Amino acid sequence: MAYTLEQLNAASPAEAAAMLDGLYEHTPWIAAKALEQRPFQSLAHLKHLMAQALSQSSQEAQLALIRAHPELAGKAMVSQSLTAESTHEQGKAGLTDCSPEEFARIQQLNADYNAKFGFPFILAVRGPRGAGLNRAQIIETFARRLDNHPDFERAEALRNIHRIAEIRLADKFGAEPVVGNQVWDWHERLAQHSDPGYAEQGQLTVTYLTDAHRACAVRISQTMRDAGFDEVALDAVGNVVGRYRAAPTAQNPKTLMTGSHYDTVRNGGKYDGRLGIFVPVACVQALHQADRRLPFDIEVIAFAEEEGQRYKATFLGSGALIGDFHAEWLDQTDADDVTLRAAMQHAGLCIDDIPKLKRDPSRYLGFVEVHIEQGPVLNELNLPLGVVTSINGSIRYVGEFIGQASHAGTTPMDRRRDAACAAAELALYLEERAAQDGDSVATMGLLQVPSGSINVVPGRCTFSLDLRAPHDSQRDALAGDVLGKLGQIARQRGVAYKLEETMRASAAPSDASWQTRWENAVQSLGLPAFRMPSGAGHDAMKLHEVMPQAMLFVRGENAGISHNPLESTNADDMELAVRAMQRLLEDLATS
Ligand SMILES: [Zn+2]
Repeated sequence: MAYTLEQLNAASPAEAAAMLDGLYEHTPWIAAKALEQRPFQSLAHLKHLMAQALSQSSQEAQLALIRAHPELAGKAMVSQSLTAESTHEQGKAGLTDCSPEEFARIQQLNADYNAKFGFPFILAVRGPRGAGLNRAQIIETFARRLDNHPDFERAEALRNIHRIAEIRLADKFGAEPVVGNQVWDWHERLAQHSDPGYAEQGQLTVTYLTDAHRACAVRISQTMRDAGFDEVALDAVGNVVGRYRAAPTAQNPKTLMTGSHYDTVRNGGKYDGRLGIFVPVACVQALHQADRRLPFDIEVIAFAEEEGQRYKATFLGSGALIGDFHAEWLDQTDADDVTLRAAMQHAGLCIDDIPKLKRDPSRYLGFVEVHIEQGPVLNELNLPLGVVTSINGSIRYVGEFIGQASHAGTTPMDRRRDAACAAAELALYLEERAAQDGDSVATMGLLQVPSGSINVVPGRCTFSLDLRAPHDSQRDALAGDVLGKLGQIARQRGVAYKLEETMRASAAPSDASWQTRWENAVQSLGLPAFRMPSGAGHDAMKLHEVMPQAMLFVRGENAGISHNPLESTNADDMELAVRAMQRLLEDLATS
């Protein structure tokens, strides 16, 4: 029989401790510390308190917890001296059935890992879906993590320990994330479609209007229909638009718009964009199953294009809804010389209808978007959800320093005009200046000495600048200082420069009342309302131009890596995102 939260809250201290026994391997003090703060609002609340207890403990205590764990497929498994929980987990992962080669490989990894870090390798072998990783996945993760920095790896071990505890807790309380699992499975199913050249290698790439892209639109449409949407249609740019109508009693109902994109970068992750489609689909499904309607329409849009991969038409999908579609884009060609016009015609899209996609903002309550964080912040803080305060404004430049190419052996140090050193000085300044703001970021992502040579002082150095901040004024101040420094470096070093601004996007601060709705929703789940800016651009930036918007971030695993196949979240976090959105909808329905 599974425990209930009410039983846990009402139990005597000894009974409660017994109920949580074994969550953290041989380390009962973590649960004990959390139990001091009963009553728990939810299991998410309890998990948060346990994570906090561990993060506030000493490094020795954290290391002791890590070292309390057995090696994967190690001596304890062979001698059958594991805890019941570990036996179950390692057995379920198939580690007890390793081939001699796999067993030898794991033993080598165990030895190398222990030698480097001084503690055993810890992996939540039940994985992000709870269904279990296979042996190949386990070995691959093991080998990859061996390359981590020791500080990072210690934190990663602790995160895996929290994940193990989360799954053990769900087992005790019969709290399987049923909806989260379904949302997870929808992602898996959609990720079966990938562009040629990538699909063969098991990589995910879905660019605008390819066969795989159009297959995704069909899949999403079907998922929406199965979930109970009243209308599902493909619009003139390939967006999939699902509508769940308001209650018939609602007078002249307005619409809440939500959604995100289904295209991907090349060799991207499965959750970027798509999470913001499937979370609201799960919300509509729950409403439909309960035979409920709200006093407003819900419009869930799967945007066809956000990443600007096949054509330089970033945010094409959401842009079309605010009338931001440029006719000159139609003549752009992709790498195979196919024009955007031809691609749209081939897909059966009616170009003449694009202007009709423009929405009347007076018919809308606002726009909300759920998105995977694509950064390390929530992962590091052990927080599943974060509330976005603003989507950062950005400016991009491409530039070049022009000095004097000269002989590396014969040119004395005080006679050089080294273009690469000028760029290097600027790169270091970027780092220092952005850090002063705390929440600005600045990157020199491209840096090249064109036709450079090992024995030549660099005469030219090309570079890029990417500057971002939560407010336009902060961004402009950052850019002003960087450009000032650029001029100063050029003068002092006697080099010339060229600089071209290639992109400028305004910051999109969240609407205060919508941000509060997300904060209330997150808090109602028993979690702190952690506020953070979005460093990346999102579809919400486009809708921001015509209606109030606010975003919810979901923690990414693997240090929040994104635009990468390692991008991941887990089914429990997905379930929390669905619950948060349900709370937001309820809040809106009663306000
Ligand atoms: Zn995205």
